[in-house]
Amino acid sequence: VLDLVIRGGHIITAEGEFDADLGVVGERIAALAAPGTLSEARRTIDAAGLLLLPGLVDPHVHMGHRIFLEGAWVPAADDFATGSATAAAGGTTTVIDFAIQRDLGPVETVAARRGEADGRVVLDYALHPALTRATPENLAAIPALLEAGCPSLKLYMIYRKQGRMADDAVLFNALAVTRGRGLVGVHAENSAIAEYNTELAIQEGRTTPIDFARSKPNYVEAEAINRALFLAEETGGTLYIFHLSARESLTLVAMARARGVKVIAETCAHYLTLSDEVYEREDGHRFICSPPLRSRADVEALWEGVDSGLLSVVSSDHCGFDSAAKDRGRADFTKVPNGLPSVGARLPLIYTHGVLAGRITLPRMVDLLSTAPAKIFGLYPQKGALLPGSDADLVLVDPGARRTVSASSWDSPVDWTPFQGMELGGWPVATIARGVVRAEEGRCRRDGEASGRFLPRSLGGVVRAPGPQARHTAGGGERGLGAVRAKKEESS
Ligand SMILES: [Zn+2]
Repeated sequence: VLDLVIRGGHIITAEGEFDADLGVVGERIAALAAPGTLSEARRTIDAAGLLLLPGLVDPHVHMGHRIFLEGAWVPAADDFATGSATAAAGGTTTVIDFAIQRDLGPVETVAARRGEADGRVVLDYALHPALTRATPENLAAIPALLEAGCPSLKLYMIYRKQGRMADDAVLFNALAVTRGRGLVGVHAENSAIAEYNTELAIQEGRTTPIDFARSKPNYVEAEAINRALFLAEETGGTLYIFHLSARESLTLVAMARARGVKVIAETCAHYLTLSDEVYEREDGHRFICSPPLRSRADVEALWEGVDSGLLSVVSSDHCGFDSAAKDRGRADFTKVPNGLPSVGARLPLIYTHGVLAGRITLPRMVDLLSTAPAKIFGLYPQKGALLPGSDADLVLVDPGARRTVSASSWDSPVDWTPFQGMELGGWPVATIARGVVRAEEGRCRRDGEASGRFLPRSLGGVVRAPGPQARHTAGGGERGLGAVRAKKEESS
């Protein structure tokens, strides 16, 4: 007998849409059947008139983030418990956060980060280790990170002064070592140019929010992406570009793909729905994030990139700094902690600006928000799918509801939202994680235990870039530095 039946919903997957009943046994999907044919169950949810999607996978969140500013740590308002609750309220059932290296080795950093999440996080989660030191010891730790279920690294190409930057040698070697069995994600911005521009702006007293955006023009991102693409090509490794924001970057990704570089690109909901005009507002400083919000022409180019498949994923890059933390930099952009709270808003934003605006189909939305990230990061078909045997991670959406966004649209300790006042559709009615109703009508249910689990991942031999233009897969065969050296010797 089934534990749960969701009856009469309109199912949307990355492959298509159809009406069906969906049955759950325990934590997993047990059956999909013709409407009205699954009736025997301990619990039934009537989904007539609702869309039923696989739970969303957000591969780029920062829960309980903190940054070092003016000699002190500035913490985000949320943590793994409250941040994942907000994610659940927004229709997400899996998050991938980061283990950013500070004082420990990479493997110890992962363990410490798991210590912050386990027993508190309400959703299943995984981690991208972020290596921040250019040392042989760090590179030597990469095989152990793969063993620990973390085959996707993140390297910052910027933030040298904050001690977060991994230099080009680390990037080159990480791409080589993970070749065929992992991937390297980058925060791509040219550190030297951005730092120089920032210092000049400070000297000349140009520290308003729009001056921040001007300190990191499109070429700051595009140059770093160009460099990373070259290194990916040289090594044969797979490159994942986090939060691509500039139209020039898309051109570079298209050119690289055409010559066979293994590259997957992500953008974030805010780059598709906000533009740099917000920096002229009185509260413009709150919108400071990196890369900065771009021009309307860039926003349009990003939607074209979504349409063409150059962009495979739309993440949130959630960062839960509250208004007090943001307002430290009201008059000086260098004092603003970067990042936007957005983990709850991804679904209504993309449903409204994408589907309702006629830019993408519902299956394409499911791919961008759930299936593609699950596949890229080694979680599919446990996550990102509505298949028998997949985790019963589900989101029910009311296609007709429209609401005006405010900070209280979701459970969250963060007291502001960058999307304040937007009228959006596509709100989740219920979010079900591994068979348990985790959120309803924007509220996370706290009656269950914090049952989120760490998801160890493997990328095996193949990392596939999904989407209409996906043609390139990571090669198997030789691995690591030895293979790269062999390749270089062959060609020299
Ligand atoms: Zn981020």
